[in-house]
Amino acid sequence: MQKRTAVAEGRYDARGFLRDYGVKTRDDVLPEAWAHDLGIEIIEADLEGASAQLIRLGDVARIVLPARVTESGARRFAIVHELYHFLKKHPSLSPTMLCKPKWQRSTGAREPQHVYEIGSNTFGSSVLLPDFLLRKRCEISPVSLDVPWQIAKEYDVSILASARRFVELSSERCAAVFSKGGVVQWSTRSTTFTRKIPDGRLLHPDSIAWDFHATGTLDERAQPVPARAWFDTSSNVDIIEHAICRPDYGTVLSLLWVPDAVGARVGMP
Ligand SMILES: [Zn+2]
Repeated sequence: MQKRTAVAEGRYDARGFLRDYGVKTRDDVLPEAWAHDLGIEIIEADLEGASAQLIRLGDVARIVLPARVTESGARRFAIVHELYHFLKKHPSLSPTMLCKPKWQRSTGAREPQHVYEIGSNTFGSSVLLPDFLLRKRCEISPVSLDVPWQIAKEYDVSILASARRFVELSSERCAAVFSKGGVVQWSTRSTTFTRKIPDGRLLHPDSIAWDFHATGTLDERAQPVPARAWFDTSSNVDIIEHAICRPDYGTVLSLLWVPDAVGARVGMP
């Protein structure tokens, strides 16, 4: 299965799942209750380097969450992610399926395991942050991390999850870029942000994210940066970057926005 198919299927399954569980408002989004309803026990253990684990032995299914992860947003996401592996009966080599963040996986992008992870992440995001509840709020200009922060708080998800979902649902030219050690780990774009920011790209010294890499801190306000800080362009125009850092993890999340006035000049008419 291709990445695109896995994403489409994850979204489709999420719609059916939300319908089956009668989700109409934020208060109906209840990962632990869903797991319980499906007969899945949730336990904690010392999972080195992994974000969660699914154990299937005969009729018994368990989701194991890493004891070190105490943020409820990360836990909610991990539960729904594993629920999808369970519901779809994604195969694993042993009764235990260990899920890791993308940059910690040793499997290649073309291996089946990678596609299952994409499916589970898409399902997780679509179920925790339903499009029919959030799309309108994501149609906002100017774009900054303000709305993703509100959504993260209200829906009890991480800012990474809400920023990704925000750019998926927004029609503005925007992208969420996650970097660590001066290197782009992943990025998600809105359909109108047509320039690619590849994984593995080195941060440009003109980006706000680079400031954190260079000095250990950054100015956490939305501000103009040269467009060429994020993608190749001969145009000497600014876009907006709103970045936040996590010094304890050494990571930066940048939300980029290309306003209408400069869209055509950077190849995004
Ligand atoms: Zn997984």
